[in-house]
Amino acid sequence: MTLSFIALGTGDAFSAKRYGACLAVEHREGDTSRWLLIDCPHPIRKLLHEGSREVAPGLDVGSFDALVLTHLHADHASGLEGWGFFHRFALQKKATLLAHPSVARDLWTHLQPSMGWLLDARREPVAMTEEDYFDVRTFVDEIELGPFRIEARTTWHHIPTIALCIHAGGRCLGYSADTAFDPALFEWLAASDLLVHEANLGPAHTPYATLAALPADVRAKIRLIAFPDDFVPDAIEPLREGARVEV
Ligand SMILES: [Zn+2]
Repeated sequence: MTLSFIALGTGDAFSAKRYGACLAVEHREGDTSRWLLIDCPHPIRKLLHEGSREVAPGLDVGSFDALVLTHLHADHASGLEGWGFFHRFALQKKATLLAHPSVARDLWTHLQPSMGWLLDARREPVAMTEEDYFDVRTFVDEIELGPFRIEARTTWHHIPTIALCIHAGGRCLGYSADTAFDPALFEWLAASDLLVHEANLGPAHTPYATLAALPADVRAKIRLIAFPDDFVPDAIEPLREGARVEV
């Protein structure tokens, strides 16, 4: 059994060179793979195509058991419309979406203007609901799906946001999502085998210098995500889009 992930997007909200933060997490047992998508920036199928090309060719929307949504900022969630429409029209099933209640609460407000109406065969408008596209499963502390056990904690960010610990195959992947540096949250995340952590500017993000000042053995298990384009970290390894990382 193995737990690994592909970094599909490693950029921040203003990135000109990289996609928004997005991970494809794989649990593999023998020949059987199960996949979780962590966040969903636009254009998600292009992220999947380019990010998987060298390490998991053919990975596409239909490969995933579920999407886990950390929050509704566009660099993490702008692909939700395409994700929902692709499930309905191409896959003809609902998209399973796992989210904290505080994140799920605003999901349809976010999507209704563009997904709330469809024309039927007579070109008559038909009102659509969130449930027509998504099977939303809310969870506060943890949820299980297939081989995955997903734990959540809320973060310090502009809008409701969750950090994650994803357990499968006896390993644990931590993901800070977007957050100011929160010592208690960090301690919880740092119990993982590998921790993907943001580093960015402003009061709702974690300064790189804070992470770079951590002990070497802690830094060794961190991989950076959502850092600015022109930033070159020297003390912590950054994630690279299209690379697979074993947890
Ligand atoms: Zn954010």
